[in-house]
Amino acid sequence: MLVKNATVMVTMDGSRREIADGGLYIEEGVIKQVGPTSSLPKTADEVLDLKDHILLPGLVNTHHHLYQHLTRVVPAAQDGNVWNWLKVLYPMWARMQPDDVKLAIQVGLAELALSGCTTAFDHQYVFPNGCKIDDAIHTAAEFGMRFHASRGSMSLGASKGGLPPDSCVEEESAILKDSQRVIETYHDDKHGAMTRIVLAPCSPFSVTDDLMVESAKMARKYKVNLHTHLAESPNEERFTLDKYGVRPAGLMEKFGWVGKDVWFAHSVHINDAEISMFAKTGCGVAHCPCSNMRLASGIAPVWKYRQAGVNVGLGVDGSSSNDGSHLLAEARQAMLLARLNLANTPGGPPTDKKQWLSAREALEIATLGGAAVLGRNDIGSLEPGKCADFFAVNLNRVDFAGGSMIDPVASIVFCAPVTADYTVINGRYIVKQGHVTTLDLPNVIAQCNRAARRVVSG
Ligand SMILES: [Zn+2]
Repeated sequence: MLVKNATVMVTMDGSRREIADGGLYIEEGVIKQVGPTSSLPKTADEVLDLKDHILLPGLVNTHHHLYQHLTRVVPAAQDGNVWNWLKVLYPMWARMQPDDVKLAIQVGLAELALSGCTTAFDHQYVFPNGCKIDDAIHTAAEFGMRFHASRGSMSLGASKGGLPPDSCVEEESAILKDSQRVIETYHDDKHGAMTRIVLAPCSPFSVTDDLMVESAKMARKYKVNLHTHLAESPNEERFTLDKYGVRPAGLMEKFGWVGKDVWFAHSVHINDAEISMFAKTGCGVAHCPCSNMRLASGIAPVWKYRQAGVNVGLGVDGSSSNDGSHLLAEARQAMLLARLNLANTPGGPPTDKKQWLSAREALEIATLGGAAVLGRNDIGSLEPGKCADFFAVNLNRVDFAGGSMIDPVASIVFCAPVTADYTVINGRYIVKQGHVTTLDLPNVIAQCNRAARRVVSG
């Protein structure tokens, strides 16, 4: 495949080159050449002419719950913090059927791909009525998304002092047995893998101690990564202080849940010593600005994380708490929220420009940052040897008018978020001329709407 004539190509390579009139030459899902169009082969089996388009590395989503498309904008969960929100939604999630979840995943993956996402992590942790992670894995494979699936879990029901109702939790032994099966069946650790498995007990207030410890042991035995929600809200901090006498990050140390193979969602309420601990041990963070604003969770210390050398990626979070799966919009929100946070600087926002999260830094977090958080060195940039995952946007539209010729790269973040005209994953078109190629999307949306009505109203 030859990709040519892009107005500008953002490489995210070691020197962050932005190449005018850029393009790529691809063979079997792998990038072979990167450079100005004049330096590339003149033709190929498939030629994509990106005149007037910006070409970017595919975005990496590091935190989502795709099943939550079934409980989007539920009125009773619109205005409240994360624990209020969860208490409304848990009983609805207990009603989901396998076919409902499949529809939610299809819709979610389509929305992500249309926003430039090419690698998605899905934190699924509720498995009622015969739901299995296998369905998510097969659905993502059919769709063509590069997919990290979690065999997530909840084991601490309300009767044992946890937040979720007992109808939403599983037995520890069943969770561990299924986790092992899923890893042995699906996990691919090779360069260019389309499917990886992650073990992801849900949160400190919904899982048992043993499950945390045993999950970590299993993950390390099989060399798969670990993920959980952490330090999202003050409620959670009070819970771990009351129950264990330590803050959420301290609890992770106690469970052996620190290291390069661990990343946490949110990590909003984290102090300076804990940031140093993340940096020293290699723990990564999935920053979810829209969800954190929507649930009034707070502002994650992203600038401090990056200064300390902590890997930070972006997550749109579940579709019940964002409620959009638009990863490019999330990059914009990360930039804006970091700037809002500067208003809290004593004496006013700093004049030092380095402290202002730039549009290019937001794109870096959305690409290379996400790749690092997921433990991958084969995605996140457009370089020879990397996976052919990219998206392109036509700059010739009203959203960018006046700015696209001044600074097209910054325009893609500063201007109102738009959808991709082309998204290519593993060298295959997933979005072409603005349309998803691998799904009958209108039909899937109609079915998902019906399923959502049933799940929400019971
Ligand atoms: Zn989440």
